[in-house]
Amino acid sequence: MPSSVDPKHDPYDIAIVGSGLGGLSAAVALRRAGHNVTIYERYDFGGEVGASLSCASNGSRFLQEWQVDIAKARPVILKSLIRHDWKTGQVSGTYPLGDYRERFGTDYNNFHRIDLHQHLKHVATTEGGKGTPAQLKVWHKAVDLDPIAGKIVFENGVVATHDLVVCADGIRSQMREKLGVIPHIAPSASCCYRCIIHADKLRELGLHGFAENSAIEFWGGDGIDKIVMSACSDHDVVSCYCFYPAEKNDLKEDGWDISTTGENLAATFPELDERLLTLFRNAEDIKMWRLYDHDQYPYWVKGKCCLLGDAAHPMMPDQSQGACMAIEDAGALGILFAPKYADLDVTEKLRLYELERKPRASRVQDSSRRARLDLTERIGWSSANDRPGKLTIEEVCGYDMHAHVAELVKETKAAG
Ligand SMILES: Cc1cc2nc3c(=O)[nH]c(=O)nc-3n(C[C@H](O)[C@H](O)[C@H](O)COP(=O)(O)OP(=O)(O)OC[C@H]3O[C@@H](n4cnc5c(N)ncnc54)[C@H](O)[C@@H]3O)c2cc1C
Repeated sequence: MPSSVDPKHDPYDIAIVGSGLGGLSAAVALRRAGHNVTIYERYDFGGEVGASLSCASNGSRFLQEWQVDIAKARPVILKSLIRHDWKTGQVSGTYPLGDYRERFGTDYNNFHRIDLHQHLKHVATTEGGKGTPAQLKVWHKAVDLDPIAGKIVFENGVVATHDLVVCADGIRSQMREKLGVIPHIAPSASCCYRCIIHADKLRELGLHGFAENSAIEFWGGDGIDKIVMSACSDHDVVSCYCFYPAEKNDLKEDGWDISTTGENLAATFPELDERLLTLFRNAEDIKMWRLYDHDQYPYWVKGKCCLLGDAAHPMMPDQSQGACMAIEDAGALGILFAPKYADLDVTEKLRLYELERKPRASRVQDSSRRARLDLTERIGWSSANDRPGKLTIEEVCGYDMHAHVAELVKETKAAG
């Protein structure tokens, strides 16, 4: 066995392919665990988009543990989930989150994705904080990977070999196939628009209440049509996700950045609450994209490599858990690569990583698919309306990963 994978190895030399929220979280966790981390990003920055991202306590807990100054990413702290009548906009249900911190130990943070991305990049790569700053190498598009050797080939001709390669290259991961995982992808029956609007504009429109609310607000959700609205960036921005049947415009193009107009957006939902139609007609940065359904993958680990984030478990957005699951993946790596488990070699750590992460992320993946068509499957709403087997806010947010990893390690050692 080469010395680079021996137990009690001093700092590992770790590569992370992809600097999205998952890759950056892994960089923070692994630098704090004492390792030398290089992040390779294909562009000149990990692309984030103008939209909100709610970070429940299972994600926020790791941000806290990693001493990320969460306030610097300007979250809105969520106090409730609110459900509205599709046509009249009248409030038809509320799930209070007032005791959330007491129950789960953190706030329910709602970020602007760009704010969180920029802040995590700073935390991962700058002096200060625990560990050696991660190096970020931009314009390094990985095109080939030998998972057994940990050798990555980049489009620019650079070749790099590492003790561990974390493939965090997103839903369209190319590294995944280099691990032998061939995804089965089907276009979903749903498409989605996203848009933002600034608080000043909402004030002009007499809709400023939407910016002041500390809530995720839902219209629809019994079937494909659903609007999800929330304020972020210290209440300066309101973000909407607007789901509709793909057949309405038969969008074939892929990606996040297909532009459209406020009129098109409003015309998609003719019966909707008039206040939202006004908001849509005045919105900025209106984009649409097609959703895809991914079956679970048979495995996440091969040789010195593992999948992380959307590369490992792409999911429908309807539990608001994709990034939280990526942060949890990073948390698991941080725990397993910490000095406490220095007696395990890389192979054992990665086997435990998959054992710890895959069942939980797969369960969230499944429940996200169900929540695409039924809001009562979404955590928060689901706990108020339990059915056997449903994912609940208690299961997601009350999770103690440190204890679970310790248990798995103990079982592994007992099994010899
Ligand atoms: C509509 C919608 C709403 C959502 N809302 C929420 C929410 O409220 N809460 C939540 O927790 N999650 C949410 N999510 C999910 C969340 O956005 C994703 O799960 C998360 O951003 C995935 O992060 P990632 O780092 O795994 O992937 P990505 O963000 O896709 O990052 C991948 C990175 O890898 C780079 N890359 C790709 N290929 C290569 C290569 N070959 N070489 C080098 N670099 C490469 C890319 O440029 C990119 O920077 C939502 C998703 C959607 C679609």
